[in-house]
Amino acid sequence: MGKVLFIRQQTYSQPEIDSAVLRAFNHFGGITHFVSKGDRVLLKVNLVSGHDITRRVTTDPTIVRAVARLVLEAGGTPFIADSPGIDSFKSAAEKAGFMAVARELGIECAELTDPVDLPASDGADFKRIQVSRHVIEADKVISLAKLKTHGQMYLTMGVKNLFGTIPGRLKAGWHYNVGLNREKFAGLLLDIYAGVKPNFTLLDGVIGMHGDGPTSGDPYEFGIIGACVDALTMDFHLCGMLGGKLEDYPLYMAAKKRDMPQCELDPSDIDGDIPATHVFPGVKLPKTRSMRLLPSIPFLDRLMTSKPVHIPERCIGCGRCAAVCAAKALRHENRRLYFDYGKCIRCYCCHEMCPVKAIEFRESRLVRLVNMLR
Ligand code: SF4
Ligand code: SF4
Repeated sequence: MGKVLFIRQQTYSQPEIDSAVLRAFNHFGGITHFVSKGDRVLLKVNLVSGHDITRRVTTDPTIVRAVARLVLEAGGTPFIADSPGIDSFKSAAEKAGFMAVARELGIECAELTDPVDLPASDGADFKRIQVSRHVIEADKVISLAKLKTHGQMYLTMGVKNLFGTIPGRLKAGWHYNVGLNREKFAGLLLDIYAGVKPNFTLLDGVIGMHGDGPTSGDPYEFGIIGACVDALTMDFHLCGMLGGKLEDYPLYMAAKKRDMPQCELDPSDIDGDIPATHVFPGVKLPKTRSMRLLPSIPFLDRLMTSKPVHIPERCIGCGRCAAVCAAKALRHENRRLYFDYGKCIRCYCCHEMCPVKAIEFRESRLVRLVNMLR
């Protein structure tokens, strides 16, 4: 049996999603293989911030509903949880349709709060990471991730979804601590993944996002649901299937540095309807890649990564971008943004939190030149 199952799924029709989700669990031994009677099961959705379902930023509620029902049938107590970067949890979860699922099934929809230490895994780069106590106290964690491109990290799928287990604004603090080095940030993601150890991951790629993800890109109908116990293998295969290069994917490069076995990709890792050799046509990847021709050198990193720029005619003056900037590299005044690019750590949180796509990326001249020569 392969390590990852890819199911072809073109719509969010609830009966179809129900059977796809059932098939996903059955492939790996059935829901009772993962959930025992009385287990409290955290369903870690991808919420990000308050976005309407049609923007395809968040895990679709049909998938959350299908998994929650299965957990209930197995005698577990599911609860839907995440921690938005900036918005009020309730309104963000309402917009994403998670509150409606919770009300309908009589289950909890909880904000990931109350940071506690995550036990460090062997070989972790970061020995003290704090995640929500809900994560530590849950008997099982099922990650319900979304398939999207990501300005800072190239792609966000199974592994990156768990960054949301860090409560609220602490996430911005991590961006600031890690700074410009994406592989270092990817190392943090590996440490969180190894510490949280989700029991199962389902990836919603029925309609995901390409372009300037994870919030300002365009919907893309991938027509796929991924299922696995090992999300690293799934994410690495999908990188190529989306037309990406593994050497541009910081998560892969960080795993390679650690000699992780998942870096050896084998087409037989994949079962189901869509083979590892499939390439989704015309996927737009973020323009924020840094050059791989040079090693990471702190003073060059800024020149090698795209910078955020303001599109004033779209701006509604909400100030969320400046509020989320942990580096204090951004000032907002009268619908004008003033960037201090010397301080900016290119985390793109401002871009991620802008509700109206009024922040875009611009490659530096140096990157444009080198990419032309590649
Ligand atoms: S300006 Fe934007 S990209 Fe730069 S550090 Fe602040 S939030 Fe991050
Ligand atoms: S750029 Fe976006 S987040 Fe910043 S003030 Fe304008 S609309 Fe708000």
